[in-house]
Amino acid sequence: MATPPDCLFCKIVAGEIPAEVVHVTEHAVAFRDINAQAPTHVLVVPRAHYANAAELAHGDPEASAELLRVAAAVAAAEGHADYRIVFNTGEGVGQSVFHTHLHLLAGRPMTWPPG
Ligand code: AMP
Repeated sequence: MATPPDCLFCKIVAGEIPAEVVHVTEHAVAFRDINAQAPTHVLVVPRAHYANAAELAHGDPEASAELLRVAAAVAAAEGHADYRIVFNTGEGVGQSVFHTHLHLLAGRPMTWPPG
């Protein structure tokens, strides 16, 4: 899929904007969220541009699965057996960057339902 010229996470994947990268694979890049909501708050994104998780799952199922494998690997590397994965989809639930990203959150107690 084409890379929109103004996509923040495409620029992080390309190394054009700095980020604290913690894990890279063929299809995915994981980096720390700039506004962490938990001791571990890492974003896992596909290298290719898709607007949300469902579009990625349709367009590149292997990359979609890789996001989950990377999240598990990062959680384990940071010592967390328990963690939360979130894919915000749509402005109405808080999506602000329209390049698929998995939020990996861990390291503090969490409540349910989420806010
Ligand atoms: P969402 O609101 O689900 O679209 O998540 C976007 C996330 O990207 C937010 O948690 C932001 O804090 C995070 N974010 C925005 N800009 C950056 C950046 N330059 N580096 C790392 N994380 C960022």
